Amino acid sequence: MRSLCRVTAGLFLSAFTSLSLGAPLTQLKAYEAPPAWLTPIAPLRISDNVWQIGTASLTSLLVRTPDGLVLIDGGMPQQSTLTLDNIRRLGMNPSDVRYIFHSHAHIDHAGPLAAIREATGATLVSNAESAALLQRGGAGDLHFGDRMNYRPAHADRLVQDGETIELGAMIFTVHFTPGHTPGSMSWTWSDTRDGKPLRMAYVDSLSAPGYKLAQNPRYPKLVEAFRSSFARVRALPCDLLLTPHAEGSGWDYGNAAAPHPKPMSCADYADDAERKFEQNLAEQSATS
Ligand SMILES: [Zn+2]
Repeated sequence: MRSLCRVTAGLFLSAFTSLSLGAPLTQLKAYEAPPAWLTPIAPLRISDNVWQIGTASLTSLLVRTPDGLVLIDGGMPQQSTLTLDNIRRLGMNPSDVRYIFHSHAHIDHAGPLAAIREATGATLVSNAESAALLQRGGAGDLHFGDRMNYRPAHADRLVQDGETIELGAMIFTVHFTPGHTPGSMSWTWSDTRDGKPLRMAYVDSLSAPGYKLAQNPRYPKLVEAFRSSFARVRALPCDLLLTPHAEGSGWDYGNAAAPHPKPMSCADYADDAERKFEQNLAEQSATS
């Protein structure tokens, strides 16, 4: 078993602070992202064993356990080096990443997973729906076609809804929350902060950007999927909510003084998404 004894007190030097790491990552030719998505930040400590190591706006979580590390999501394709560097900045070793979990297989969250899997030797965990999209590198997306392709990634392990994965003393539970993609996944586990237990929830996007909602021939049960996921998310164990896009749950990772200006509960997140979804659905129905 690989040891984490290299994790030293040095890692606490950067605890609970975040700072910009300078120049933004370069834009891709095929898919231009908003600047905040590409603004690198130093690791931001979220709880005793969780750090945000992605960009100012795209979440990539590093979770430390006594038996190794877990990475959840990777952000855009050009984030792979930043991710690996940020693991080292924390005094940890990329080869100690045992698992990579992810939310959904779009370019802005799964973009660097193939490269990170290769560099770390970690087991990439997905589900059947998302693994198919990962394997195609995002090609043939139900709503976006081939406009957001990235390097294909091979999933090493497929999970079922409600399945748990244990590493060290931490137990991670996957909750299927389809809608934004048919394979969307949310993850819950427990950590501590300020000496108290903290139920962590990393909940997938619940948005439908530009989607045809009703009677979508590529996704006939889209409306039912979203509605069941709103209910599902509302009921998750959730003391601290994080989402693939920081602002979705009131985070602002690049703001060292106030990285979480508008904390949100899972119920608030689901309510907000549901309101937007139903309004969008009503508008589409009125104009169709
Ligand atoms: Zn997406």
